[in-house]
Amino acid sequence: MPVSICKLCLQNRVLKDSHLLPAALYRMSRWEGSANPNPMLISLRGRVQTSKQIKDYVFCHDCEQRFSRNGERYTMLQVNRKEGFKLLQTLQTSTNMKSAGGFTFYYETSALGVDRRKLAYFAMSVFWRAAVHLWHRPEQKEPIMRLGMYEEPIRKYLMEEAPFPSEMAILLYVCTDYHAQNVFYEPSQGNMEMPYTWTFQTRGLNFCLSGMEGMPPQLAGACLINGEKEVIVARSCEEKILDATMKIMIEASKRGNHDPRGAKKP
Ligand SMILES: [Zn+2]
Repeated sequence: MPVSICKLCLQNRVLKDSHLLPAALYRMSRWEGSANPNPMLISLRGRVQTSKQIKDYVFCHDCEQRFSRNGERYTMLQVNRKEGFKLLQTLQTSTNMKSAGGFTFYYETSALGVDRRKLAYFAMSVFWRAAVHLWHRPEQKEPIMRLGMYEEPIRKYLMEEAPFPSEMAILLYVCTDYHAQNVFYEPSQGNMEMPYTWTFQTRGLNFCLSGMEGMPPQLAGACLINGEKEVIVARSCEEKILDATMKIMIEASKRGNHDPRGAKKP
C-alpha cells in the first residue's frame, strides 16, 4: 500500500484502497440469478455492467474510519436493501406529515429516530471525494465536479474541525419509485442554470447539495443540518434520475467512453 498525503487529514500516511461510493452499494446492486449479475454503473466511463468498483489509494485508515463512523455505516442501513427500505419505512410510520403535488413532507424526523447528521455527513463526504481526486484515471483529466471555494470548508467539516459550511444546504429526497430505489450513481452537476448545485443517488436516497450566498429560505429550511422543521421529502425520483443519467451519459460520450453494449437491461 502506498504511503502519501491523505487528502482528508493532510498527513503523510499509509493509504487504504478507498471508494468513491461505498462497496456495500455494489454488493446490494447485484442481479443474482441473471446471466450478468454485476451492477449497472453509470459513470464518466459510460454505462456499463461491471464488477469493477470506482476506487483508488486516497485516504488513510483513520479517515476511512471517520467516514464510516460518522455517516456511511448508518446510511448504508437506511438505503433500499433486500430486507427492505428502512428510511422510507420509518418515515411512513409518522403521522406528522403533509402530502401535496406528489410530494410527502415528513416533519420532526429526528423524533422518529432518523439521524439527520449522519445522513448529511455521508452525503457531504461523497460530494467532496468526487471533487478532490481523479477517480477515473488515466482517462480523466479533471475532477468529476468542482466545489470551488466550498472545498476546504467541507474538508474541515468532515474532519470535525468546523461546523457545517454556512451558505450550503444538503437536501435528501427519499424515492418512492422502483427505478430510483435500485440504482446508484456518482455525483454530477444538478441544475444546469445554477453552477453550485450537485446531486447523487444511492438506492432510494437522492442527495442534492447547493451552495450560494443568501440561500433561499425554502432551500435552507429543507437542509438536513439547518432545517428547523427537520423535514424529509418522499417523492418519485424517476424524472430526476433520468435527467442525471442523461447528463452523466452525455459527459461520458463527450469523453468517448459510452459503451452502447452496456445499455441493455439485464
Ligand atoms: Zn487521513
